[in-house]
Amino acid sequence: MWVCCGLCVWGGREGWHNLTHPNSPQLDSQPRTNPHNHSDMNKKAIVLLSGGLDSILATKLMLEQGVEVVALNFMAKLCMCGAKKTGESAAQTASRMLGVTLKTIDFTKDFIEIVKNPEYGHGANINPCIDCKIYMLRRAKELMGQAGASFVVTGEVLGERPMSQRKDALDIIQRQAGLKGFLLRPLCAKLLDPTIPETEGLVDREKLLDIRGRSRKPQMALAKKFGIDKYPTPAGGCLLTDPGFARRVKDAIKYNEFDEERIALLSVGRHFRLSDKNKLIIGRDDKENILLESLKVKGDIIFNMADCPGPYAILTGLPDEAMIKTAASLVAYHTKLRNVTTAKITYWVEGTDSTLSLQVVPAALKDVEGCRL
Ligand code: SF4
Repeated sequence: MWVCCGLCVWGGREGWHNLTHPNSPQLDSQPRTNPHNHSDMNKKAIVLLSGGLDSILATKLMLEQGVEVVALNFMAKLCMCGAKKTGESAAQTASRMLGVTLKTIDFTKDFIEIVKNPEYGHGANINPCIDCKIYMLRRAKELMGQAGASFVVTGEVLGERPMSQRKDALDIIQRQAGLKGFLLRPLCAKLLDPTIPETEGLVDREKLLDIRGRSRKPQMALAKKFGIDKYPTPAGGCLLTDPGFARRVKDAIKYNEFDEERIALLSVGRHFRLSDKNKLIIGRDDKENILLESLKVKGDIIFNMADCPGPYAILTGLPDEAMIKTAASLVAYHTKLRNVTTAKITYWVEGTDSTLSLQVVPAALKDVEGCRL
């Protein structure tokens, strides 16, 4: 499962694989349309569609004006929850409801690099929103020619988010994406300079909006007017905006574990930092136990309880015997045997056939809390 943005919610994956890399030439140039002659522009736009209310409304406003829409959704493998219930992402649900074509891009690899080293820094937690949006819009710009679109649309609202939706940030984002004049934000367009689709008459500025600030009431009222009653609860952004999750990501970056192979582990279970190399992850319930099992890799130590039901747990980083014992005592703490003198734990090295066992004293609460992330 995935975390995505625009503007951010959860989703699934489908492909659009013939994409060029965002660092290809002309990133800071304008779209291919001649800036002095816009007669070749048409009423077709790429809309960044996360599936959240803002992007749904931005899409709807374009459709109401007769603009043909191709929806674009960016996903990164950070989350192992989310779309399980319905089997489809919020963007897929929204695109179905709106009747627009949806293209989804998995940008996990590039997202990891953006999170590690954003040019414009992180927000309150570890969310690199300005860089992230520049990235997505650069890719949207690259796709304009392929999709036959003349401009790009987002559901951004001036002042809705402290980092990336300030006026100066909105300006930086459109400039750095190479979309100055070609990026339309219908929900707050009247508070911004007119864009080329507006001045060229492709879009009626009078029908665009002037929503500002963090309250979602205007959007909810608009949704009601459009008869849209199914949309995700407004969230503050992706998982990276969550302080607890950000702590795990910072830890993973510090210990060089923030990579494609292990990124999905970050959103599952309880996490314990045991050494520079070793981290223990313990499932909190059956669902997480199953997810953890699907994320193990060769060389991981896998723990199970010998004498009672217990969590699935993974110890990473090729640990030695002492470390396995320490981890086993933490696993024992998270079972019914927490208060016994000793507990028997079974474990194996993933990729090998033999199962081993050891007796441990369940860890004390202070030891558990001392290494918990
Ligand atoms: S980093 Fe910011 S812009 Fe990117 S997905 Fe997360 S909340 Fe959205």
